[in-house]
Amino acid sequence: MKNRVHGNNIIKRRTVTDKKRYELRRKILEEDFKGICGYCAKSSKIFLEKFQIDHFAPQSKFPERKNDYDNLVLSCPCCNRLKSDKWLTENSHIYYTEKEGFIDPASEEFDKHLGRKENGEIFPKTDIGKYMCEIFRFEIRPIKIIWKIMRLRELRDQLENDNSKKGLLHYKEVTKILDDYIDYIRFEKRE
Ligand SMILES: [Zn+2]
Repeated sequence: MKNRVHGNNIIKRRTVTDKKRYELRRKILEEDFKGICGYCAKSSKIFLEKFQIDHFAPQSKFPERKNDYDNLVLSCPCCNRLKSDKWLTENSHIYYTEKEGFIDPASEEFDKHLGRKENGEIFPKTDIGKYMCEIFRFEIRPIKIIWKIMRLRELRDQLENDNSKKGLLHYKEVTKILDDYIDYIRFEKRE
């Protein structure tokens, strides 16, 4: 599980057959995506920005799929902006060509193309993975730091249950470090 972009989070969309407006799906989409960006796995709980609803097959090219729940991806604003309306085929159900294209983050196939190193870096396993790394600019974004912030947050949450004097001191100190890093990422790196 450690070498997955999404870590321990398994993203799976529920089956939705009716066609409500996609804007009304935010709540279940956030649940199905475990509150993380499908592409970079940044957590919306830590980075208190408004995550967006990305249309995997872009709505500008495939308006007929605008309200298809299985075409929606919870995305951080950064990934959504970088992906924009890029799509390489004329068919909304054909995601990639031989070497380039996109893999649905809510499919098991995603892990075959992209992985996560121990240090938090996202790396490609295939040509399509490489294409995605380039589109989402994983190499130049602070992906490693974001991953570490998320790990630090997990540890901080564990400390929350430690009621000893030392536990409380550590909790406060970790919270301070965490807040500083989150400010750094948000205001200096503009993620
Ligand atoms: Zn993202």
